[in-house]
Amino acid sequence: MRFSLNDAFRATGTRFALYAQSPVLDGFAEPETIYVSSPRGTLLPGPADDRMYVIQPHEKQPYAGDALPPFRGPFSPMAMPSSDGHFDHLSPDDPGFRNAHMFGTVRRVLDIWEIYLGGPIPWSFANTHPRLELIPYVPWDNAHFGWGFIECGEGKDDQGVLRPFALNFDILAHETGHGMLFSIVGMPQPETLTTAYRGFHESASDCIAMISALHFDTFIDHVLNITQGNLFVENEMNRIGELSRTRQIRRASNAMTLRDVIAVNTDPNKATGKQIHALGQPLTGAVFDVIAEFFLDRLIALKVVDADSVQQVRIAASSDRLHAVDSALFSIPYHADPKGFAMALAQARDMLGLRLAECWRRLTPDDFTFEGMVETLLTVDAEISGPMNRQLILECFEWRGLSLEKVDNRQ
Ligand SMILES: [Zn+2]
Repeated sequence: MRFSLNDAFRATGTRFALYAQSPVLDGFAEPETIYVSSPRGTLLPGPADDRMYVIQPHEKQPYAGDALPPFRGPFSPMAMPSSDGHFDHLSPDDPGFRNAHMFGTVRRVLDIWEIYLGGPIPWSFANTHPRLELIPYVPWDNAHFGWGFIECGEGKDDQGVLRPFALNFDILAHETGHGMLFSIVGMPQPETLTTAYRGFHESASDCIAMISALHFDTFIDHVLNITQGNLFVENEMNRIGELSRTRQIRRASNAMTLRDVIAVNTDPNKATGKQIHALGQPLTGAVFDVIAEFFLDRLIALKVVDADSVQQVRIAASSDRLHAVDSALFSIPYHADPKGFAMALAQARDMLGLRLAECWRRLTPDDFTFEGMVETLLTVDAEISGPMNRQLILECFEWRGLSLEKVDNRQ
């Protein structure tokens, strides 16, 4: 069975038009109509509801220091729902489109992870701010989540064209990920904050973006088409926060290990943002490897590819000899049964999403360690499916320099 958010919310939910990936990429030039869980007719102009609201200030610098929402200055007209309560009627050149795109994306990401977690994700900042403020544009080459807000700037693509981050699903999903993780995992005290926790936050936010993007059927089809069914081949799924065909902000599939990044026992207040993003990369790479392995298992289970062919690809990938493998091993079965491949990838996505969500729910933010995270993931996986995946998951993390016993990059 293949789970579909659109099927789940078609009868009662609200429609939005979202770009599944940056519109500069082939195949993603047009926004896609999707359903979110917000009951039809309940969303207010903005869009807004009791959890979040979009506001576009006339003029505002990014939040910094003690500045916090709500924004109280003059603002642009709000995006209005259609007469039947949807927001997919706005065309991309309508000024309200960006507002609707931002709200719809954040709501969709919440929908996905609330389903994996089995209940609503309350805001970590709810004691002072009942609603999340969403600001589609501030003059800034960045986007960030902070106490009670997400706000976006814009960045240049390879052609030097400014692209608003509010229209970039991956970047919005990543920032929403930070917001959710502060609630799911929690916030450490200043004296119990570790560098590992900061690296984990960046990595988990990237994983949230990657798994959330895989809820677009068009994205699944695109990934499979580009790779001809073999996920180990470089593809769009590996690029998080992409601005063009060749430039991306971070990468999910990467060859980085913990030996390539700062030591986990670095003072958390001394590590730079750049170092922390790099520290997250080996973790994200390990998680990508796990989804690729789950995918191979599902291909066999669904009888889409024979076990011999899968074994050949596995051996080649682990010994860095993919170039020597006959690409027809996967491309022939893929062309014979593209729907079977899509089903396998959707199932791998949900296997990983369920396990990560439950793992994060059990973690505590204080004195956070990578070893503790891997151990919790293994425990959750064993509770769901017994011992069958343990070795596979362990190997994905060990290859990155992360075993249950130790992280081998301490200074
Ligand atoms: Zn981040």
